[in-house]
Amino acid sequence: MLSFEAAREKVIEIARGRRELGLARRADDSIDIAREPAAALGRVLAQEVAADRDYPPFNRSIRDGFAVRAADVAHVPARLKLIGESKAGTAFDGEVGAHECVQVMTGAPVPRGADAVVMIEYTKPEGDEIIFERAARAGDYIVPFGSEARRGELVLLRGTRLGYAEMAMAAQVGAVRLQVHARPRVAILSTGDEVINAADTPGPYEIRNSNSVSLSAQVALSGAEAVPLGNAPDRKPELRALIERGLNEDVLVLSGGVSAGKYDLVEAVLGELKAEFYFDAVAIRPGRPAAFGVCRDKLVFGLPGNPVSTMVTFEILAAPALDVLSGGAPRPLPLFKARLKYEITEKPGLAHFLPARVAFPTSKQSDRAPGDSATDATVETIHWQGSGDVVALVNANCYLLVREQQEKIPAGSWVDVLPRRGFF
Ligand code: AMP
Ligand code: MG
Repeated sequence: MLSFEAAREKVIEIARGRRELGLARRADDSIDIAREPAAALGRVLAQEVAADRDYPPFNRSIRDGFAVRAADVAHVPARLKLIGESKAGTAFDGEVGAHECVQVMTGAPVPRGADAVVMIEYTKPEGDEIIFERAARAGDYIVPFGSEARRGELVLLRGTRLGYAEMAMAAQVGAVRLQVHARPRVAILSTGDEVINAADTPGPYEIRNSNSVSLSAQVALSGAEAVPLGNAPDRKPELRALIERGLNEDVLVLSGGVSAGKYDLVEAVLGELKAEFYFDAVAIRPGRPAAFGVCRDKLVFGLPGNPVSTMVTFEILAAPALDVLSGGAPRPLPLFKARLKYEITEKPGLAHFLPARVAFPTSKQSDRAPGDSATDATVETIHWQGSGDVVALVNANCYLLVREQQEKIPAGSWVDVLPRRGFF
């Protein structure tokens, strides 16, 4: 049985091959980031973006104050003649001579002749003169012309995922219309005779379909497009027909029907459709029966149906495939360390992803001595009834990872924590 790390690697490898044969050949989308910023967020650039001019385009003041020749204020107090002002958007078109200064605002060009800015807080006006109470050194509070980027320099590379900073960068250089890679389309099919539409009223033993909803949300978080196919009953002909529909998309994600029960038919039906499986079990709990393969050239994930298992296995196994198919790099699992609050014991042999709450210290870091454990993030598991317990999951903000070989972890140990996407 593969470890979750090995299973992820396998998924990434297979997804890379599939991308070259499929999505990489599809036409890019073109999005105007000024008109539709939300549509661009999370998409992957299919072009590079270069600086249209030098940045900053002039020597920029980063404080409100006075532009001076530093030599004139080497000894303070010093007294300089005020000869004008430079505000953001316009420039002072003279030159700062010896024993002269020009008032400048944040973001404004520093006039010729000046080589430093003194913050207004360290000055006071007196008639047409300014008195400087603090010395300056050449370069103070000036960002030199071209020091951030030179004209023509690449500021965004092909394959970059667009976050808010990347979008600001593109907007800054006037690259308002961006070419982005086509998004993978992900068919979502839940299975189970007991599963009904979430909008309907369940009979005594029926369950509302929450997996199709959580999977659609996770697909959206991945920057892909969900294509919901509803629910398949536990009968081969209907299941097969819906699976075949799902195989029209780039990826098919199924929930339920992959365990060893009499009515777990997903693998059998995929087998009839000549699917090739790379794994049908992973050493994780929740989520052990998760399956992954290729069928009719499409990636197929058969995720176990218990809602927490479905959510966890999507995050660990399916999300990196969507990253790759989107044309970007697979985002790593953002594990970080926190101190365990209370001892835990788990069965060894499987990696456990336990619903947990991480808390960050509220007191200021600077108030505490280095090595003081009160500044550590702490984590505690949430009491839960197992992989069907969504109530516990919404009380959690992360998963605590107990590795395969770990059994008893004492309080105070450093443990790995996987934040729930969108929570931090
Ligand atoms: P299965 O993996 O098909 O054996 O299902 C495991 C458990 O998950 C059962 O208790 C199912 O009722 C539940 N389940 C399966 N599919 C869904 C779904 N789409 N939404 C909510 N619960 C589900
Ligand atoms: Mg089932």
